Amino acid sequence: MLRFCYGPMDCGKSTLALQINHNHARQGRRGMLLVRHDRSGAPQITSRIGITREATEIGADTDLRQLLRGQWVAGRHVDYLIVDEAQFLSPAQVEQLAELADEVRIDVYCFGIATDFQSRLFPGARRLFELADELQPVQVEVLCWCGAPGRFNARVRDGEVLREGDTVVVADTAPGRIVEHASSSPAEPDITTLRYQVLCRRHFRLGDLGPATLRRGQLRLT
Ligand SMILES: [Zn+2]
Repeated sequence: MLRFCYGPMDCGKSTLALQINHNHARQGRRGMLLVRHDRSGAPQITSRIGITREATEIGADTDLRQLLRGQWVAGRHVDYLIVDEAQFLSPAQVEQLAELADEVRIDVYCFGIATDFQSRLFPGARRLFELADELQPVQVEVLCWCGAPGRFNARVRDGEVLREGDTVVVADTAPGRIVEHASSSPAEPDITTLRYQVLCRRHFRLGDLGPATLRRGQLRLT
């Protein structure tokens, strides 16, 4: 089975990934934790509630079938794979996961964000929507400021929702942290002015960040 659990940032996907890993490991099954990009710099899956597990980092060109073969050659059986930040997988890597699920009966659990800051599907997420046996929205507690379910990750600079810009890769972040990789420029992101805010579809469309956000130059009326 190939499964994709998806949701906006900070909805608890990594926590769920580690919980599923725990449930399987307790049954004596052997799994591998994979991550495509990591928010902390070290290959690991980090949940917001403070649990961390070491993971194997996947590169852009990693063939996941060869990765598994390496495990078998070393005498290590693998029953399941857990892939965090799966939106960053290439479409080809998603196809490799489907092949592993079909041909070697490995259970594959992918966790990730569906859409980027322009509300477009990430290529890896798109391929997962096309191929996965099960699609599971993570039941989020992340809400828009209006109270509606948060669905989109708005990229915000100086109180404005950004609609254009480089296609950047946004990692699910710990609170207050931004992990961003521009494929064109490896420069450090400007974390002082750039942030992400989860919004419902209506407020994402309208670019409405809510009453708590003052735009630059506005005066608060009390
Ligand atoms: Zn809203």
